[in-house]
Amino acid sequence: MKINSINYNNKDNNKPSFKRYYDAVLMKEFEGWIEQYKKVNPYLKGEDIAVMRKSIDSFNAVYKGVQTTSVQNIENQIYNKFHIPADFKGDKFIAAMSALTLNIFQKLRLPLPTGLYVKPLENHVSGCCDTMRRFVTFNQNQDWSDIQRLTAREKFLNWSSTGHFLKTPIHEFMHSVHLSNLHKLAAQKQQKINAIQSKLLRDFLNMDFKTNMINQAGSPLIDKTANSQVLTKVSRYGSSTPAEMYADIGAKMISYILDRKTLLPTKNPFVFKDFTEDKYLMKMMNDVWAGNITGYIK
Ligand SMILES: [Zn+2]
Repeated sequence: MKINSINYNNKDNNKPSFKRYYDAVLMKEFEGWIEQYKKVNPYLKGEDIAVMRKSIDSFNAVYKGVQTTSVQNIENQIYNKFHIPADFKGDKFIAAMSALTLNIFQKLRLPLPTGLYVKPLENHVSGCCDTMRRFVTFNQNQDWSDIQRLTAREKFLNWSSTGHFLKTPIHEFMHSVHLSNLHKLAAQKQQKINAIQSKLLRDFLNMDFKTNMINQAGSPLIDKTANSQVLTKVSRYGSSTPAEMYADIGAKMISYILDRKTLLPTKNPFVFKDFTEDKYLMKMMNDVWAGNITGYIK
């Protein structure tokens, strides 16, 4: 997930220190953003703001909690509970956010990423998911104590689909869910071909379904209708590629049904066949899930 490259304005000198969580000053700034962006962002709905308010409450609790948490402890617990290696390089926020997101995905019975890491990534990239190995990496150069503010700001700008502070891990974990299905589909296709073609012909045709599907999912969303549908109904970042559309819709759907206190899903947002409640988005979501992407990228 790329961070919006639009710079913050001059109000950003009061960046919270580790000792201070979302306080009266930041709440005032948040209320100011609501006033400001309601006028200029036609896609901003009352529900979006309500989710951000709820998220700020949750974030305050997490902010207090992480100060007495040991990162090593969280890493050990993640390994014992989920059998996933994790190295957060001492970052308490990423450790806490990752553990919370793992609990959410486990409750929803979604495939989990295969590893969790913290490394220096490019500027403006908050996290990424390895397309082949499906592990998630978070940017070491980012100030994660400021994540609620950053995420809210991106939602106000319609850059991302949700202003919930868990957006980054949920978005990255959704890439891993999508990739796990593309890997499975590619293996099925390959198996079918292997059964009917000779090795010589296979090598000659060089059919790598996995790479092919992943490349397609990461290609620009050129189709005009698709692009504008995602831009107006999901986010600007989601409209960049089919893979981002999938991850950003998922991030919204999951973050909008989280319990304020437990941060666990209050229901399964994917249980209905038309879970996006939008015909166009639903068809697109199903197509992207099934790797039928060519119609959207040319
Ligand atoms: Zn992404």
